[in-house]
Amino acid sequence: MMRKCIGIFGGTFDPIHLGHLRLALELKQQLALDEMHLLPCYLPPHRAAPGASAPQRVDMLQLALHNCPELQIDKRELQRDKPSYTLDTLREIRAEQGGQTSLSLCMGMDSFCTLDTWYEWQQLIRLAHIVVVERPGYELPAVGPVAELVRRHSADVAAIKTAAMGAVVIVAPRLLPVSATDIRAQLKTGQSPQFLLPDAVLEYIHAQQLYR
Ligand code: ATP
Repeated sequence: MMRKCIGIFGGTFDPIHLGHLRLALELKQQLALDEMHLLPCYLPPHRAAPGASAPQRVDMLQLALHNCPELQIDKRELQRDKPSYTLDTLREIRAEQGGQTSLSLCMGMDSFCTLDTWYEWQQLIRLAHIVVVERPGYELPAVGPVAELVRRHSADVAAIKTAAMGAVVIVAPRLLPVSATDIRAQLKTGQSPQFLLPDAVLEYIHAQQLYR
Protein backbone atom coordinates (compact mmCIF):
# COMPACT_ATOMS: atom_id res chain seq x y z
CA MET A 1 0.00 0.00 0.00
CA MET A 2 1.22 3.50 -0.80
CA ARG A 3 0.94 5.28 2.48
CA LYS A 4 1.62 9.01 2.74
CA CYS A 5 4.48 9.62 5.20
CA ILE A 6 4.89 12.88 7.09
CA GLY A 7 7.70 13.88 9.43
CA ILE A 8 7.22 16.45 12.19
CA PHE A 9 10.31 18.23 13.50
CA GLY A 10 9.64 20.50 16.45
CA GLY A 11 11.87 23.12 18.01
CA THR A 12 12.21 26.67 19.17
CA PHE A 13 14.21 27.65 16.07
CA ASP A 14 15.57 30.66 17.94
CA PRO A 15 17.08 31.10 15.41
CA ILE A 16 16.78 28.40 12.74
CA HIS A 17 20.27 27.31 11.65
CA LEU A 18 22.00 24.95 9.24
CA GLY A 19 22.07 22.14 11.85
CA HIS A 20 18.25 22.11 11.92
CA LEU A 21 17.85 22.50 8.17
CA ARG A 22 20.38 19.83 7.24
CA LEU A 23 18.97 17.37 9.79
CA ALA A 24 15.39 17.90 8.60
CA LEU A 25 16.42 17.29 5.00
CA GLU A 26 18.55 14.23 5.83
CA LEU A 27 15.73 12.71 7.87
CA LYS A 28 13.26 13.32 5.07
CA GLN A 29 15.55 11.51 2.66
CA GLN A 30 16.71 8.74 5.00
CA LEU A 31 13.16 7.89 6.08
CA ALA A 32 11.75 8.42 2.56
CA LEU A 33 9.14 10.86 3.85
CA ASP A 34 6.76 12.58 1.45
CA GLU A 35 6.68 15.72 3.56
CA MET A 36 8.76 17.16 6.37
CA HIS A 37 7.13 19.79 8.58
CA LEU A 38 9.12 22.14 10.80
CA LEU A 39 6.94 22.93 13.81
CA PRO A 40 8.04 25.96 15.82
CA CYS A 41 6.70 25.86 19.37
CA TYR A 42 4.90 28.72 21.05
CA LEU A 43 6.55 28.61 24.46
CA PRO A 44 8.51 25.42 24.90
CA PRO A 45 7.45 23.73 28.13
CA HIS A 46 10.96 22.34 28.68
CA ARG A 47 13.03 25.40 27.86
CA ALA A 48 13.60 29.04 28.71
CA ALA A 49 11.59 31.67 26.82
CA PRO A 50 13.00 32.36 23.34
CA GLY A 51 14.74 35.61 22.45
CA ALA A 52 12.84 36.29 19.22
CA SER A 53 9.07 36.71 19.07
CA ALA A 54 6.85 34.08 17.46
CA PRO A 55 6.34 36.13 14.26
CA GLN A 56 10.08 36.77 14.06
CA ARG A 57 10.87 33.06 14.36
CA VAL A 58 8.36 32.35 11.58
CA ASP A 59 9.90 35.08 9.41
CA MET A 60 13.32 33.47 9.90
CA LEU A 61 11.94 30.02 9.03
CA GLN A 62 10.35 31.42 5.90
CA LEU A 63 13.57 33.11 4.86
CA ALA A 64 15.51 29.90 5.53
CA LEU A 65 13.11 27.77 3.47
CA HIS A 66 12.75 30.25 0.64
CA ASN A 67 14.77 28.03 -1.67
CA CYS A 68 13.78 24.66 -0.22
CA PRO A 69 10.59 23.02 -1.51
CA GLU A 70 11.50 19.86 0.46
CA LEU A 71 10.67 21.38 3.85
CA GLN A 72 7.58 23.21 5.06
CA ILE A 73 6.49 25.17 8.12
CA ASP A 74 3.62 24.23 10.38
CA LYS A 75 2.64 27.36 12.30
CA ARG A 76 -0.24 25.92 14.28
CA GLU A 77 1.39 26.06 17.73
CA LEU A 78 2.20 29.75 17.27
CA GLN A 79 -1.34 30.55 16.24
CA ARG A 80 -2.62 29.67 19.70
CA ASP A 81 -2.39 32.01 22.67
CA LYS A 82 -0.75 29.50 24.98
CA PRO A 83 1.83 26.70 24.88
CA SER A 84 0.58 23.48 23.33
CA TYR A 85 1.13 19.95 24.41
CA THR A 86 2.76 17.87 21.69
CA LEU A 87 0.01 15.34 22.23
CA ASP A 88 -2.73 17.85 21.35
CA THR A 89 -0.84 18.96 18.25
CA LEU A 90 -0.39 15.35 17.15
CA ARG A 91 -4.09 14.67 17.72
CA GLU A 92 -4.94 17.63 15.51
CA ILE A 93 -2.60 16.51 12.74
CA ARG A 94 -3.88 12.95 13.00
CA ALA A 95 -7.49 14.19 12.71
CA GLU A 96 -6.58 16.17 9.58
CA GLN A 97 -4.61 13.36 7.97
CA GLY A 98 -6.83 10.43 8.86
CA GLY A 99 -5.76 7.07 10.22
CA GLN A 100 -3.70 5.80 7.27
CA THR A 101 -1.09 8.53 6.96
CA SER A 102 2.22 7.69 8.61
CA LEU A 103 3.24 10.38 11.10
CA SER A 104 6.79 10.49 12.48
CA LEU A 105 7.56 12.73 15.41
CA CYS A 106 11.31 13.45 15.20
CA MET A 107 13.34 14.40 18.26
CA GLY A 108 16.89 14.36 19.58
CA MET A 109 18.05 11.72 22.04
CA ASP A 110 18.24 14.45 24.71
CA SER A 111 14.49 15.06 24.48
CA PHE A 112 13.67 11.39 24.12
CA CYS A 113 15.46 10.49 27.35
CA THR A 114 12.96 12.61 29.31
CA LEU A 115 9.90 11.69 27.25
CA ASP A 116 8.21 10.25 30.35
CA THR A 117 7.91 13.80 31.76
CA TRP A 118 5.71 14.94 28.82
CA TYR A 119 1.96 15.36 29.16
CA GLU A 120 0.27 11.94 28.74
CA TRP A 121 3.42 10.69 27.07
CA GLN A 122 2.19 7.09 26.72
CA GLN A 123 -0.40 8.29 24.20
CA LEU A 124 2.17 9.72 21.77
CA ILE A 125 3.11 6.35 20.28
CA ARG A 126 -0.56 5.61 19.58
CA LEU A 127 -0.69 8.65 17.29
CA ALA A 128 2.71 8.63 15.61
CA HIS A 129 6.04 6.92 15.21
CA ILE A 130 8.85 8.40 17.23
CA VAL A 131 12.12 8.93 15.38
CA VAL A 132 15.00 9.44 17.77
CA VAL A 133 18.15 11.14 16.53
CA GLU A 134 21.32 10.07 18.31
CA ARG A 135 23.31 12.94 19.80
CA PRO A 136 26.79 12.80 21.25
CA GLY A 137 26.63 12.68 25.04
CA TYR A 138 23.16 11.09 25.26
CA GLU A 139 22.49 7.37 25.61
CA LEU A 140 19.24 5.45 25.45
CA PRO A 141 18.19 4.78 29.03
CA ALA A 142 18.85 1.15 30.00
CA VAL A 143 16.01 0.89 32.51
CA GLY A 144 12.81 2.74 33.36
CA PRO A 145 9.67 3.77 31.44
CA VAL A 146 11.45 5.14 28.34
CA ALA A 147 13.60 1.99 28.08
CA GLU A 148 10.40 -0.05 28.32
CA LEU A 149 8.82 1.96 25.47
CA VAL A 150 11.86 1.24 23.30
CA ARG A 151 11.79 -2.47 24.21
CA ARG A 152 8.15 -2.71 23.13
CA HIS A 153 8.15 -0.47 20.07
CA SER A 154 11.66 -0.49 18.62
CA ALA A 155 11.57 -1.12 14.88
CA ASP A 156 13.46 -0.74 11.65
CA VAL A 157 13.08 2.33 9.39
CA ALA A 158 10.82 0.25 7.15
CA ALA A 159 8.10 0.43 9.82
CA ILE A 160 7.51 4.06 8.86
CA LYS A 161 6.10 2.93 5.51
CA THR A 162 4.31 -0.18 6.71
CA ALA A 163 2.47 1.36 9.66
CA ALA A 164 0.86 4.73 10.39
CA MET A 165 2.15 4.92 13.99
CA GLY A 166 3.59 2.86 16.82
CA ALA A 167 7.29 2.40 16.06
CA VAL A 168 10.32 3.85 17.83
CA VAL A 169 13.08 4.22 15.24
CA ILE A 170 16.58 5.25 16.27
CA VAL A 171 18.66 6.94 13.59
CA ALA A 172 22.18 8.34 13.49
CA PRO A 173 22.34 11.00 10.76
CA ARG A 174 25.31 13.34 10.34
CA LEU A 175 24.97 16.31 12.67
CA LEU A 176 26.50 19.68 11.93
CA PRO A 177 28.11 21.17 15.05
CA VAL A 178 25.84 24.22 15.16
CA SER A 179 23.82 25.39 18.14
CA ALA A 180 21.29 28.20 18.49
CA THR A 181 22.65 28.99 21.97
CA ASP A 182 26.10 29.44 20.49
CA ILE A 183 24.77 31.65 17.66
CA ARG A 184 22.95 33.88 20.18
CA ALA A 185 26.10 34.09 22.32
CA GLN A 186 28.20 35.11 19.31
CA LEU A 187 25.75 37.85 18.37
CA LYS A 188 25.61 39.08 21.92
CA THR A 189 29.38 39.55 22.03
CA GLY A 190 29.50 41.18 18.61
CA GLN A 191 30.98 38.19 16.74
CA SER A 192 29.69 36.99 13.39
CA PRO A 193 27.85 33.65 13.15
CA GLN A 194 27.92 33.79 9.34
CA PHE A 195 27.99 30.36 7.63
CA LEU A 196 26.23 28.73 10.60
CA LEU A 197 22.83 29.88 9.35
CA PRO A 198 21.44 31.12 6.02
CA ASP A 199 22.66 34.60 5.04
CA ALA A 200 19.06 35.80 4.68
CA VAL A 201 18.36 34.81 8.30
CA LEU A 202 21.47 36.60 9.54
CA GLU A 203 20.52 39.73 7.59
CA TYR A 204 17.08 39.61 9.18
CA ILE A 205 18.61 39.23 12.65
CA HIS A 206 20.69 42.35 12.08
CA ALA A 207 17.79 44.32 10.58
CA GLN A 208 15.53 43.41 13.54
CA GLN A 209 18.36 43.92 16.05
CA LEU A 210 17.76 40.49 17.55
CA TYR A 211 19.84 38.71 20.23
CA ARG A 212 21.83 41.81 21.16
P1 ATP B 1 20.07 25.35 21.61
O1 ATP B 1 21.44 25.37 21.01
O2 ATP B 1 19.65 26.69 22.14
O3 ATP B 1 19.80 24.20 22.50
P2 ATP B 1 18.77 24.03 19.49
O4 ATP B 1 19.08 24.51 18.13
O5 ATP B 1 19.35 22.77 20.00
O6 ATP B 1 19.10 25.23 20.42
P3 ATP B 1 15.90 23.79 19.04
O7 ATP B 1 15.66 24.92 18.10
O8 ATP B 1 14.81 23.57 20.01
O9 ATP B 1 17.21 24.02 19.84
O10 ATP B 1 16.20 22.48 18.26
C1 ATP B 1 15.22 21.78 17.60
C2 ATP B 1 15.69 20.38 17.31
O11 ATP B 1 16.87 20.40 16.51
C3 ATP B 1 16.03 19.59 18.56
O12 ATP B 1 15.40 18.33 18.45
C4 ATP B 1 17.52 19.43 18.52
O13 ATP B 1 17.87 18.15 19.02
C5 ATP B 1 17.85 19.54 17.04
N1 ATP B 1 19.14 20.15 16.78
C6 ATP B 1 19.63 21.26 17.31
N2 ATP B 1 20.85 21.54 16.83
C7 ATP B 1 21.15 20.57 15.96
C8 ATP B 1 22.28 20.28 15.12
N3 ATP B 1 23.37 21.03 15.09
N4 ATP B 1 22.23 19.20 14.35
C9 ATP B 1 21.15 18.43 14.38
N5 ATP B 1 20.06 18.63 15.14
C10 ATP B 1 20.05 19.69 15.93
